[in-house]
Amino acid sequence: MDHPFFSKPTAADRRDRWSWHLGRILGIPTRIHASFALVLVWIGFSTWSAAHSSLAVLFGLGFALAVFTCVLLHEFGHALVARRFGIETRRITLLPIGGVAELERSPSDPRAELWIAAAGPAVNLGIAAALALAGFALGSFGAGGLVSVVLSGLVWANLMLGLFNLVPAFPMDGGRVFRALASKRVGQLRATQLAAKLGRFLAVGFGAWGLFGGNPVLVLVAAFVWFAAGRELASVRHQVQQRQAFERVQAFAGPPPSRDHASRDQVFYVWRG
Ligand code: ZN
Repeated sequence: MDHPFFSKPTAADRRDRWSWHLGRILGIPTRIHASFALVLVWIGFSTWSAAHSSLAVLFGLGFALAVFTCVLLHEFGHALVARRFGIETRRITLLPIGGVAELERSPSDPRAELWIAAAGPAVNLGIAAALALAGFALGSFGAGGLVSVVLSGLVWANLMLGLFNLVPAFPMDGGRVFRALASKRVGQLRATQLAAKLGRFLAVGFGAWGLFGGNPVLVLVAAFVWFAAGRELASVRHQVQQRQAFERVQAFAGPPPSRDHASRDQVFYVWRG
């Protein structure tokens, strides 16, 4: 029998050869994309060229793995709250640029969207608070040394993960929180447009900062934010058009189709952390 917390990946989970399949955690297929190896190589290389010590490289890699574990926990925050609203998660993937939890369908209720979106950043802010409390309780912040460096580094990384994702712009979680709150007043499409516009504005800012500051990773993040904001907008436009077309047909044809039919049209919903 499968363990409720962890089970091996199934043959269907393993179909994607470009990922390392960790297994099913709480029933959700969890995997690390092959491109993630590039991040580890890059961290290893940059630590080596800065410190010329294999111990420093090991430390850098260990710290990066700890941070990416926090990214995974962020995705599980989304997935487990979605489960409470009756939405399962197809899979969780760790990519160099962050994590992705693919939900089976998008929540139609703004209240559900609000809680699911807020859960990811809440996990990171929770970790930051817990580690900060532990650091103060153990008196390790003032003491210096490795424990102090790791603790304060992880507190800082989780604070950044939480706060950055709360920026009210697509594709960040804050964009969804914003849409859930604003859609009651201005409608879902208008709220999405506002959050997507803000996302693109942010992308231009990141891009300029990355280009002039000579930071290629930031330029990559900017490109990702730009396209993801546009995709979210296109997806909502499509849904609204479908709904309007459906309502026109319904006005002529009468009874609505079965729920089964409606759910088959739903688009994949991607949450990025
Ligand atoms: Zn997230």
